[in-house]
Amino acid sequence: LRHLVLVLGDQLNLQSAALERFDSSRDRVLMVEARGESTHVPSTKMRSALFLSAMRHFAEAVRAKGWPIDYLRLGAHAFDTLDEALGDALARHAPQALVVVEPGEWRLEQAVLAVCGAAGVRVDLRDDLHFMCGRNEFADDARGKSRLVMEAFYRRMRVKHGVLMEPDGEPLGGQWNFDAENRGAFGRAGPGLLPPPPSFPPDAITREAIADVEQHFGDHYGSADAFAWPVTRAQALEALADFVTHRLQDFGRFQDAMWQQEPFLYHALLSSSLNLKLLDPREVIDAAVARYHDGAVPIEAVEGFVRQILGWREFIRGVYWWRMPKLLEANALGHTAPLPDWYWTGKVQMNCMKNAIGQTLETGYAHHIQRLMVTGNFALTFGMEPAQVHAWYLSVYVDAVEWVEAPNTLGMALYADGARFVTKPYAAGGAYIRRMSNYCDGCRYKPGARSGDEACPMTVMYWDFVARHAPMLERNPRTVMMVKNLRRFDADDLSAIRATAERMRARPDAL
Ligand code: FAD
Ligand code: SF4
Repeated sequence: LRHLVLVLGDQLNLQSAALERFDSSRDRVLMVEARGESTHVPSTKMRSALFLSAMRHFAEAVRAKGWPIDYLRLGAHAFDTLDEALGDALARHAPQALVVVEPGEWRLEQAVLAVCGAAGVRVDLRDDLHFMCGRNEFADDARGKSRLVMEAFYRRMRVKHGVLMEPDGEPLGGQWNFDAENRGAFGRAGPGLLPPPPSFPPDAITREAIADVEQHFGDHYGSADAFAWPVTRAQALEALADFVTHRLQDFGRFQDAMWQQEPFLYHALLSSSLNLKLLDPREVIDAAVARYHDGAVPIEAVEGFVRQILGWREFIRGVYWWRMPKLLEANALGHTAPLPDWYWTGKVQMNCMKNAIGQTLETGYAHHIQRLMVTGNFALTFGMEPAQVHAWYLSVYVDAVEWVEAPNTLGMALYADGARFVTKPYAAGGAYIRRMSNYCDGCRYKPGARSGDEACPMTVMYWDFVARHAPMLERNPRTVMMVKNLRRFDADDLSAIRATAERMRARPDAL
């Protein structure tokens, strides 16, 4: 064999650099469903089902091209981990080289290199051309810096790729960023009639994947009953067309808003398709920008969306490789509280948490503000241990792959990496949740109550967090107001808050 081409579960792209110049007379594809990939963190049923189904559909596409493939199905081979399966395949095929695109996880890259090293097989590690900023390009730019700023990176990417730019080098619409127009809530009237989200009910392959998940991971959390995610490139393209046609125009305006029983609102629902590489970020950006040029969507909507893909997504990926492997151990605030069990079950009285976690376990999805300002914010202010929170986020979302999950969780939501690539801790109390959602309407707690039986845990933990970390928050111009507001409380009020926080921290199961 000339090349054994390893295709990982999140590299489902026939145009991938690993498959360039594939010669079916001398090369062979290897794909492995490794049990360990669903158990090193306890992957929920929806997430595992999506990965298995998308991999199996991709294997069909490889076979349809007439390319030889070793596809190791869960339960049909004896290997627990990818390393073991790869070691065996190298021994069986004795290829001249293993070809693989840069994995999305530091751990897997180390494992692949180690297995090939031990087997004495050369590794042809190819750049992941899916991304619009290469790892080396990002690293060159970050060299010598202790802090990175997303906005500066985003502007460079806009110029480099000529996205939303005037011919004279100025940003289209006269400004780079329309963020100020992108923070609307629905108000008391609610969102009204929403466009139905696209839905891709399970076909035979997906049904089999779900059954396999039940068989092998029956005790894992969540459910795959409501499976509706794209599992092929054709479906992902349909989901993209549906988004730019029906939801993009309101995406920016209501990007931060939340509403009970409405898990999807105007969001793109494209992260899993992008992260599995069923979609290319360039075609996603092009589809959105084309709607602007057609006059169908305003500049603030398309810019807000482009910033997520070309800005945040690419930046986060660069940050991951910049900070690994130290990132996974980051705990700048020294937090040690265990993750409450109800993160895995949704059985909690706090209505905001019940909704955000409930929809997560049911659909594998929550939007950015639910992740950042509900589940993440509470984990931060409560003082939960970053590593446990990280394992939760990596387990529960259909789009969860470590390169994107870890910087978002550890860096952005938990401030565990300090101010290296975010400007402040994202902490907020019940007043924020009340403004951005209707969760508080159906809650046993009162968002404004800081102590007593009806005290809102979001509010209590927020003020307790500000009190505990006042010196750090005071030094940062973006958070100094938090401390100034805290200082307006009299001593009795403050000690009541702290006593309530103590009580809540001692009995998280009672929340
Ligand atoms: P939309 O809200 O419609 O946004 C459009 C696209 O922009 C997304 O599909 C995504 O590709 C990209 N995007 C937006 N924000 C980010 C961001 N902060 N980082 C990277 N890409 C972004 N995203 C993941 O893809 N996988 C994860 O595991 C993940 N974990 C997260 C954990 C935490 C604690 C937080 C705060 C955010 C996390 N995100 C993650 C980012 C973001 O929440 C999701 O990308 C988004 O909710 C996906 O839904 P959507 O496709 O409807 O996105
Ligand atoms: Fe969440 Fe507090 Fe509002 Fe209840 S009152 S939904 S706990 S913010």
